[in-house]
Amino acid sequence: MLKGELQYTDKRSRKMVYMSRCILNCNAKFPGCADVPGVYTEIIHPIAKAGIGIEQMPCLEIMGWGGVDRPLVMHELDPKKPNADWVQEYPKLCKREAFKVVDQMQDYLESGFEILGVIYVDDSPTCGLTKTQVFPDVHFQIMEMGIPEDKIFDFEYTFNVVLPQLDASGEGAFGYQLYLEVERRNLGIPFVPFGPTKPRDEEVKRILDDLSLVL
Ligand code: SF4
Repeated sequence: MLKGELQYTDKRSRKMVYMSRCILNCNAKFPGCADVPGVYTEIIHPIAKAGIGIEQMPCLEIMGWGGVDRPLVMHELDPKKPNADWVQEYPKLCKREAFKVVDQMQDYLESGFEILGVIYVDDSPTCGLTKTQVFPDVHFQIMEMGIPEDKIFDFEYTFNVVLPQLDASGEGAFGYQLYLEVERRNLGIPFVPFGPTKPRDEEVKRILDDLSLVL
């Protein structure tokens, strides 16, 4: 039996999007950066209401930086040792995991499903694709900013002062590998950015437009 040959009817739409893990669960975000309690509901609700499934991609920072509190970045990252083993391992881990996600995408496509897009967090040094600083340089830049001690984990300061200064034109360690592999296999899946620090209404409208969904 070849993929896509099985004929069956049930209630599935056969349509889905892929999504960065923290869009569905902001608890996964880098410490100090979570701007919603749990789910970005403005993005999720219209997609769910349209009967489109959501595949949550892995958070490579949690996997590669020691866990949800990113202890390796918090305590081990040293500008004098930019070639530490775990730092060098990170892009390799991202590439391996990107391949696994694309394998899963390919399985869906070959089985007759439609993937409307990959919605990714574009200011992340991991999931970003066009608007981010690369790892580990981004963290060295943050160290050089001279952030006051009492502001290091202050959300308002992080979100409104630190993150806008990190806006750049680099590619994230995971997002770029994912994009390259989707292109290499010619899967034709659009990549749809989400900028958490940008005006939310405009971001949501553009994302839904990119997916050809109406509110
Ligand atoms: S690495 Fe990706 S999934 Fe994890 S918090 Fe950053 S943007 Fe979200």
